[in-house]
Amino acid sequence: MSTGRNQGLPGEFELIARYFAPLAKGYPGAFGLLDDAAVIRPADGRDLVVKTDAIVSGVHFRPEDPPDLVGRKALRVNLSDLTAKGAVPLAYMLDLMLPRDVEEAWVAAFARGLAADQAEFGIHLIGGDTDSTPGPISIAIMAFGEVDIGRMIRRDGARAGDTVYVTGTIGDAALGLAVLCGRDSRPDPTSAEFLIGRYRLPAPPVSLGPHLVGLATASIDVSDGLIADLRHVCEASGVAADIWSDHVPLSEAARSILARDPDALQSVLSGGDDYQILFTAGPAAADTLAVLAREFRLSITAIGQVTARSDQASHCVSVFDPKGRPLPLDREGWAHF
Ligand code: ADP
Ligand code: MG
Repeated sequence: MSTGRNQGLPGEFELIARYFAPLAKGYPGAFGLLDDAAVIRPADGRDLVVKTDAIVSGVHFRPEDPPDLVGRKALRVNLSDLTAKGAVPLAYMLDLMLPRDVEEAWVAAFARGLAADQAEFGIHLIGGDTDSTPGPISIAIMAFGEVDIGRMIRRDGARAGDTVYVTGTIGDAALGLAVLCGRDSRPDPTSAEFLIGRYRLPAPPVSLGPHLVGLATASIDVSDGLIADLRHVCEASGVAADIWSDHVPLSEAARSILARDPDALQSVLSGGDDYQILFTAGPAAADTLAVLAREFRLSITAIGQVTARSDQASHCVSVFDPKGRPLPLDREGWAHF
């Protein structure tokens, strides 16, 4: 819908033609972004898996973050959900709300970032909306993927006796944000660059996702924080979970920070923005998971155990230190309100 012109920008339709229509090339159902709506035709026997997530300047990214990375992050926070659900990504829609003083160069770089990720993940932009806003830059993406009918991996399938796994490393984004905000002093420059990079550009294991269908009993992406997201799985599944803190996979950079500041473990366990995949699986899955980890060159780490839920428990996720003592947690994860 048209809502007036941004002063620093060409008109809405010029913006779409210049920067977004090229991203629709190659997807027949996008009709070159020249129609009112798009068509997605999932393959026979497949369900369409749908997810939307927005990122807002000042909340999910910083106004000075490079715009190409902002575009890629906006897309990847949706792809991580599709990945967790076992879906193969197909296409996405983009609702872009821009303040009037945004420069065209910002939009150009933003679209370049999207183009790079489209090539990496094999998906296309198929439509959206462009508006002006009196508020900060807001980017809502809706992503579509597909999975065999009825096979989407849900949150509610975890059972006592399952193992809790997580992909990649945890805590890098939260530590990176702490560095950016000046809350963490003096990490060495290489670590700082790595951690900030993980905050700005999450790397969900998109190609692994579909292989978790039939293996994972429940799955979620780590966006709010490891403990909070595991709690979501436990609540949906009616179970509890024990996590062994020393099993939580850490990057070298995160390790170096923890060596200096053990309290940073709190940020690792409860900080958000990792966009890795947290899932549960029965004992029979272990060998296949080891093969997949090698095949996709990523780590898949067992970090704990699903247990039966006792009614008295005030919280369903418990974290234990290497000596088996429960770790008190100040907060479980990020919440907007
Ligand atoms: P309408 O007038 O029906 O609301 P628009 O004029 O907003 O439609 O959009 C025209 C076309 O451009 C549609 O195909 C729409 O999906 C596409 N479009 C608009 N904004 C974007 C965007 N930010 N990204 C991708 N496609 C867009
Ligand atoms: Mg229309």
